[in-house]
Amino acid sequence: MVKENLALVQENIKKACEKSGRSPESVTLIAVSKTMPVSRLEDAYDAGSRDFGENKVQEIMDKYPALPSDIRWHMIGHLQRNKVKYIVGKVCLIHSVDSLRLAEEISAQAGKKQVEADILVEVNIAQEESKYGISQEGTLQLVEAIAKLPHIHIKGLMSIAPFVEDPEENRKYFRQIRELSVDIRGKNIDNVDMSVLSMGMTGDYMVAIEEGATMVRIGTGIFGKRDYR
Ligand SMILES: *Cc1c(COP(=O)(O)O)cnc(C)c1O
Repeated sequence: MVKENLALVQENIKKACEKSGRSPESVTLIAVSKTMPVSRLEDAYDAGSRDFGENKVQEIMDKYPALPSDIRWHMIGHLQRNKVKYIVGKVCLIHSVDSLRLAEEISAQAGKKQVEADILVEVNIAQEESKYGISQEGTLQLVEAIAKLPHIHIKGLMSIAPFVEDPEENRKYFRQIRELSVDIRGKNIDNVDMSVLSMGMTGDYMVAIEEGATMVRIGTGIFGKRDYR
């Protein structure tokens, strides 16, 4: 089932790219495997997935040694400062940085381990109280502050759009994130690269791609519904 689902998602990514005059290689599909057992990740791996997204440090720790080492792990969930030390050096990208204090801890742990940490700044684009992320207005200031830290590199922005029935409702938010990213890129801040836009999930990734997403995070569309019992 995972294989068929993946093929369908990849086909949809291609369609959205064609519609917006983009190359399908410009979009990275992240298989969001949270709550899924290792065997399901292996199915996705065998079908070609190499980018996996998890939202809990403990799950990354458990799955990391059980799966092939050429997997690129993405931390996409809220990250507590006291857990940063467990994932720096293991994950290829932390999508969910929304405060200077968190960035400082990532910088410190990366220094300790003598690695460089790539991150995205998470923007709460629809200003939902239930979501983490810096406000749109506060993003530039946070980016400028993080840019000064050693061993940490901003690669772009991440956003979780509201849960909606009709993905078109989120188009305006995806567009705002892209515009924000273009504005920040225009400032030419040292140590800041705005090449990544991580936005779009199972319900709205085609619209996100049309609006410029370079990474889409798909869970349900690949692995089916999650069971949180
Ligand atoms: C769970 C999750 C996803 C994937 O959601 P689906 O709707 O299942 O595709 C994407 N991004 C984040 C941050 C998540 O926590």
